[in-house]
Amino acid sequence: MSEQVGPSGEGLGPRRAYETAPGGDGPPAFGEEPGLGPRRAYETVVGLEVHCELRTATKLFCACRNAFGDDPNTNVCPVCLGLPGSLPVLNARAVELAMRIGEALHCEVRRSIFHRKNYFYPDMPKDYQVSQYDEPINVDGWLELPDGSRVGIERAHLEEDTGSNRHVGGDGRIHNADYSLVDYNRAGVPLVEIVSRPDIRSAEQARAYVSELRAILVAIGASDGKMEEGSLRVDANVSVRPAGSDQLGTRCEVKNLNSLRSLGRAIDHEAARQWELLQAGERVVQETRHWNEAQGRTVSGRSKEEAYDYRYFPEPDLVPVDPGEAWRDEVRRALPMLPAARRERLARAAGLSPAGVATVVELDLDTLVLAAISAGADGRRAVNRAANEVAADLDGARRLDPAAFTKLLLLEDAGKLTATQAKQVLAEMLASGGDPEELAAARGFKAMEAAEVAAQVDALIAAHPGEWERFRGGDAKVTGFFVGKVMKATQGKADGRAVTALLQERAELS
Ligand code: MN
Ligand code: ZN
Repeated sequence: MSEQVGPSGEGLGPRRAYETAPGGDGPPAFGEEPGLGPRRAYETVVGLEVHCELRTATKLFCACRNAFGDDPNTNVCPVCLGLPGSLPVLNARAVELAMRIGEALHCEVRRSIFHRKNYFYPDMPKDYQVSQYDEPINVDGWLELPDGSRVGIERAHLEEDTGSNRHVGGDGRIHNADYSLVDYNRAGVPLVEIVSRPDIRSAEQARAYVSELRAILVAIGASDGKMEEGSLRVDANVSVRPAGSDQLGTRCEVKNLNSLRSLGRAIDHEAARQWELLQAGERVVQETRHWNEAQGRTVSGRSKEEAYDYRYFPEPDLVPVDPGEAWRDEVRRALPMLPAARRERLARAAGLSPAGVATVVELDLDTLVLAAISAGADGRRAVNRAANEVAADLDGARRLDPAAFTKLLLLEDAGKLTATQAKQVLAEMLASGGDPEELAAARGFKAMEAAEVAAQVDALIAAHPGEWERFRGGDAKVTGFFVGKVMKATQGKADGRAVTALLQERAELS
């Protein structure tokens, strides 16, 4: 499969200008011999195309099941097999999900028309793909990442998926295969292709973009987000340029990126490869390249098609789709709260930064934490327990009683359980449920009385005069030594912060 429109928009008119990100945080430069002069830094420029399979019951233009993993060629009919005389009927649910995506990505959602994109490939029974070309349903949006940076969205259009080929023998690619099988179950499955602007400046930012996009698509019910099943498929347009330049370099489109890890590795590799070429005085050839995960490199595919190679023309069997203002309003109003807004809400409640609560929202634990905070639990501790202990047992998290979680936090806040004890009780609640107070009692957990802790601290100070001198002299590293000793002596029943406070008090008094 190849794409008709790159992030720079060729085929749609002149390239658009965009802002240059502050440079200096790209990967280290290389390609020049040390000692020959200063190394030049380069900047990586990435635009991403994400194909998202929509979570509909049926395909885009027929009533066949849209399901992953069924027996090959069981979900097919004359329409999705492209048999002569069959006619497409547009799936309204797919249009609605595409509109949700547009609204969630702050796009203009508008009247659109379908085109035929012509090319030959055995997984495509009609020898053309019904897609959207110069009048897509969603244009000009943006997506905000957890760190506050924004990536522009050029378009998000509706199209049908192809079938899938399986090459048997050789290394699984078509070259050297003994024979190939084709499965048309996927042919005609509804897709939205989301094309970003070339606003991404690093592999890490690319991963953050896909991760955030995936979270949004799942939150709005448009996708199941399963990259491993091909529900989200990512192609990366990568180019490089000297740091500080505002010109776009020649790009290559890297395909076959099936995970966030592959995406990051492929971008780093491809940018380094291009910069090495440029530093050697050669030039980058615009082409499609495939990521080989095992070899950790991209390999040349074919030279990139231009839009005119596809002989786009309006699909004569479908009328234009104009959702109208009323339907757009309805879709907009029905959108759930998006991850960015959920991070904001939790950050405000917990007194933390949006980035500091990102994990909790990503794991869908924010409702749990918000309930605890509104019942009076300490925000920072509630976020920590969710992001660490609860996150460590996500199966258990689904069974976790929010009221019990709140109760546990309040016990810890009140000093009735130490951090160590609270973590043990929480692990047990996640594994098999139960009331935190009863679980703590069954384990004999009680926080120690302040006087007992003070006695322990004084005994340790007396037993370790050398370390005590260092602590008094301001060596913070010894704090852990004393806290650890007290914890060991009390089997974790003392409160670490109380011990630290006592040590500081003693040091000031002495
Ligand atoms: Mn596409
Ligand atoms: Zn069908």
